[in-house]
Amino acid sequence: MVYDVIIVGAGSMGMAAGYYLAKAGKSVLMLDAFDPPHEDGSHHGDTRIIRYAYGEGASYVPFVKRAGELWQELESLTDENLFLQTGVVNIGEPTCDFIQNVKTSAALYELALEYYTSVEAMKKWPGLTLPANLVACFEPTAGILRVEACIRAYKKLALETGARLQTNEKVVGIQTGEIVQVQTGSQVYEAKHLIVTAGAWATELLETLDISLPVTPTRKTFAWFEADEQLYSDLIFPAYCFEFADSSYYGFPSIDGAGLKLGRHDGGEEINPNVPLRPFDDMDSVDLQNFIEQFMPQHGPLKYGKTCKYSMTPDEDFIIDFLPTHQNIVIAAGFSGHGFKFSSAVGEVLAELTLNGECKQDLTRFQLSRFNIF
Ligand SMILES: Cc1cc2nc3c(=O)[nH]c(=O)nc-3n(C[C@H](O)[C@H](O)[C@H](O)COP(=O)(O)OP(=O)(O)OC[C@H]3O[C@@H](n4cnc5c(N)ncnc54)[C@H](O)[C@@H]3O)c2cc1C
Repeated sequence: MVYDVIIVGAGSMGMAAGYYLAKAGKSVLMLDAFDPPHEDGSHHGDTRIIRYAYGEGASYVPFVKRAGELWQELESLTDENLFLQTGVVNIGEPTCDFIQNVKTSAALYELALEYYTSVEAMKKWPGLTLPANLVACFEPTAGILRVEACIRAYKKLALETGARLQTNEKVVGIQTGEIVQVQTGSQVYEAKHLIVTAGAWATELLETLDISLPVTPTRKTFAWFEADEQLYSDLIFPAYCFEFADSSYYGFPSIDGAGLKLGRHDGGEEINPNVPLRPFDDMDSVDLQNFIEQFMPQHGPLKYGKTCKYSMTPDEDFIIDFLPTHQNIVIAAGFSGHGFKFSSAVGEVLAELTLNGECKQDLTRFQLSRFNIF
């Protein structure tokens, strides 16, 4: 059969797209090399931050606001608890771009935002220790998404609305044309439209079409520390982002006693996504220990750490666009370590682009034309 749409990669972005397309009455085949949600891509580790006053730039705000509406809708459609409103605190020097962008976003889009000096922040959250040069911008309506539960929720709806999901079936080749042919290890599938949402494998897959996507798969680490629940429980402590001139860290309060979670956003080693990641080791823990010692010194010992994959673009903005050479192929890739919160809205725009050739969101910032690759 010729499907209306094939989606390569049914992870964060692809699963949501599968649902919105099936809901629109299209015949949809989602192919994944693993069985999502899984631990081999970019979507494991329990939690993802969703914040609206956006440190990466105010132009992201309408998109993340739409994502927030769709997460709420997904919760009510599936009767699942996907979002935890802990608030998110952004910490940095008052003049740094990230804090300035947070403030501009809030001012432009009338988002609730509270400002604290370091002394005020330490009084509000006694688990924090901050030097005098840092300020805290707290967004009380922001919070945490339960990442695997979100993907399971979209999977349930996608399957219920008639999408087909083939798991453990890696796509190894794409033949372009009016009808696109997609080759896996065992089958060739055909469709009128193709969506590529292959996360850390996007570059490898597009190489088969002689396209050099500037997306670098990167090894990332994160860890959980024992936490004094009086200081760090999600009932009193928010999710957090720390932005410095040479580094940035993010993390989560202790949810259901899981411990204080911490990760470093910048840096990381370039990897081949097909080679199993070097497991979390002592070298990885040193950096996180140093950070937590300084800013949350009342934490307990390290519980355990994990590894995950980022897909970095050079400017850390996403890629959501048609392939200029093939107008029936849409790419959504390079989510650069801050994409999950958008995945509901990315799914919606991928469906709109495929159905109508255009969408309601402004995707200018995510166009392929900003790179000189065609
Ligand atoms: C540790 C960590 C913390 C993060 N924290 C945050 C956060 O707090 N907030 C936030 O918004 N974002 C965060 N992110 C980023 C966010 O999780 C990612 O941007 C997002 O999950 C990327 O989604 P994706 O669909 O591109 O990739 P994935 O969810 O990994 O999906 C890609 C899918 O494609 C499949 N695939 C790949 N190649 C093929 C092929 N050839 N054939 C078939 N299937 C294929 C894979 O198996 C996978 O299932 C974080 C990421 C990490 C790793």
